[in-house]
Amino acid sequence: MTPFDSIFRSAHFIKSAEKLSQCPVDQGLEVAFAGRSNAGKSTALNTLTDQKKLARTSKTPGRTQLINCFGLNVEDRRLIDLPGYGFAKVPVAMKMKWQAHMQDYLMNRRSLAGVVLVMDIRHPLKEFDHMMLDWSKSNKMQVHVILTKSDKLKRGPAKSTKLQVAKALKDLEVIGTVQTFSGLNGDGIDELRLKLSTWLSLDMFIESEAE
Ligand code: GDP
Repeated sequence: MTPFDSIFRSAHFIKSAEKLSQCPVDQGLEVAFAGRSNAGKSTALNTLTDQKKLARTSKTPGRTQLINCFGLNVEDRRLIDLPGYGFAKVPVAMKMKWQAHMQDYLMNRRSLAGVVLVMDIRHPLKEFDHMMLDWSKSNKMQVHVILTKSDKLKRGPAKSTKLQVAKALKDLEVIGTVQTFSGLNGDGIDELRLKLSTWLSLDMFIESEAE
């Protein structure tokens, strides 16, 4: 439990955008989720928001290549689901278009507070992840890596993967943090909510509620 759970539970679909210009008005703060397909991004979003179907929107045919935007019930705070894909199978033209839109979003979105990079703990730091980390570095964007499906590994190997990824961030000069996560047993859910509450400055809403 964290003081922010109910704010995350309030997440609701706002809109899907093909590119930056179609995203909601660029004010307030938002956090974007990125990851290779199958890494566990939808599960992480559903677990974070305690909703079974939230990220289904992002899996609806036709929406998988879109930037899907979810609002929270506090002023101008959003969760953004960025499109990911299985790298090899995508036609070059589509890959180029995706890269252009992602770079534009990451470089020019003023309300973007940080990127949650979702990796399957058994397959970290693939080509897609390195590309996201490179962009984050050049934009001085903060990254929080969640190593999903931690329930699939024993504690020792999970910890050493976490250390390995943390070292990679440091070597790449990316400003970032790493945690393990599991939608199955709830590992890391509080850690993720606390991290995002900092990025989204949610404490100000908790205080005002208590007054
Ligand atoms: P996405 O493509 O990144 O949105 O990935 P999904 O969230 O759809 O997950 C891909 C597959 O991994 C699905 O079969 C999920 O059930 C499974 N999965 C996701 N998260 C976890 C987890 O924390 N633990 C386990 N054991 N399986 C998971």
